[in-house]
Amino acid sequence: MQTYDYIAIGGGSGGVASARRAAEYGARVLVVEAARLGGTCVNVGCVPKKVMWYASDIAQTLRDAAGYGFSVGESAFDWSALKLRRDAYIARLNEVYANLLDKAGVDVVRGFAQFIDAQTIEVDGQRFSAPHIVIATGGLPVVPAIEGAELGMDSDGFFALEQQPRRVAIVGAGYIAVELAGVFKGLGSEVDMLVRGPHLLRHFDAMVRDELATHMQDSGLRLHFGSEIESIVRQADGALQISCKDGHTLQVDALLWATGRRANTDRLQLDAAGLSADDHGMIRTDAFQNTTVPGIYAIGDITGEAELTPVAIAAGRKLAARLFLNQADSRLDYEGIPSVVFSHPPIGTVGLTEDEARKRFDDVKVYATRFTDMYHALTEHRPKTAMKLVCAGANERIVGLHIIGKGADEMLQGFAVALKMGACKADFDRTVAIHPTSAEELVTLR
Ligand SMILES: Cc1cc2nc3c(=O)[nH]c(=O)nc-3n(C[C@H](O)[C@H](O)[C@H](O)COP(=O)(O)OP(=O)(O)OC[C@H]3O[C@@H](n4cnc5c(N)ncnc54)[C@H](O)[C@@H]3O)c2cc1C
Repeated sequence: MQTYDYIAIGGGSGGVASARRAAEYGARVLVVEAARLGGTCVNVGCVPKKVMWYASDIAQTLRDAAGYGFSVGESAFDWSALKLRRDAYIARLNEVYANLLDKAGVDVVRGFAQFIDAQTIEVDGQRFSAPHIVIATGGLPVVPAIEGAELGMDSDGFFALEQQPRRVAIVGAGYIAVELAGVFKGLGSEVDMLVRGPHLLRHFDAMVRDELATHMQDSGLRLHFGSEIESIVRQADGALQISCKDGHTLQVDALLWATGRRANTDRLQLDAAGLSADDHGMIRTDAFQNTTVPGIYAIGDITGEAELTPVAIAAGRKLAARLFLNQADSRLDYEGIPSVVFSHPPIGTVGLTEDEARKRFDDVKVYATRFTDMYHALTEHRPKTAMKLVCAGANERIVGLHIIGKGADEMLQGFAVALKMGACKADFDRTVAIHPTSAEELVTLR
């Protein structure tokens, strides 16, 4: 049996970040990874998704170019050529991760870890022990139990696609559903989105949510709200026939399930460590990432809190500082986490939605605007940009900020700092605008 000070189960965003910091602070550290280093984000999440978003954005820029006097002519897009280049980029990132761990002096074992007891794990018959073990095993896409569901793909399958399907149905309303729908549509597929409820992006502010639905419909993407699938059947010509409970049918070349993710806990043998997962397979922790078993911690998607890469990384780093740098108070503050949806156009959001703020505070004031940004003044396609500040209390502290529009993705980070510092409307008002930008609207709202 080999012994360490710290073992990270899972070599994804959280596990790698935490392990590297722990090693930097002098701990002997092991990372166990069952698949590819970098986890979901690098291999089947943020990184390949953003590559595809850029491709789709370039396609739109080519369409917009005529408005600026260019005659671009017929342009062709080769999905499989992009996939090859994207895969090569990700293989390079996998190597970067391996090198970073190596340089930090972290040992890496490839294989699937299972608990033997609270301080021991087993990987392919080999045992390792440590007084501190962090579970950072992330999540997996979920596919509903519907007749023919296996004929569709999940988001992992999206990244394995060698060819671009001509007609695609996307099932789901969360950020992954809208992002991948936007990629397909931007690159020229016909897209139908099947949404069970009445809205996209249920947890977002109504303004950005409704604006996005309008943009999508204007771009020719078909949104079917209140739609539940009954069955999927492969037809003789290879197409998929989707039958919905309301009698509606669709013929598509591919179906993508974006119906949520589940925690990657079922094969960990948690009970051997005296741990249990909740009904969703999540491992709940206190504010310091402690599980109910001393010496076992959980970080990242497995905890069910703000399932984003920078959250997993920050929680992992804070935990390492607490355990190995004697920083007893080191913990991640989960309030005010900014996030971006890489839709077309993108959405940036931080803090409370207007509805949440009205439930929490008596005194809420909202400032909002909707306009055509300058880039689109000359293009045929003219999506609106919309922005909202949600303020609370007599001093109008900004408790929520929501943007949809070109550049929202890059605009948000700095505003998120301001919110975290407790900025009030008056602070925005006394900040001089940068002209001509879209962001200036946020400091000139009345
Ligand atoms: C399509 C998609 C797009 C996304 N886009 C974004 C984005 O734009 N921005 C953003 O911030 N977040 C995004 N996310 C979310 C982000 O990928 C996750 O929040 C992040 O990867 C979570 O990190 P983690 O360390 O908790 O888990 P993961 O990164 O999932 O890593 C877990 C690792 O554990 C390994 N593992 C599991 N069980 C075991 C075991 N028993 N033994 C050994 N290894 C094991 C897995 O193989 C995996 O590599 C996206 C996710 C998806 C699916």
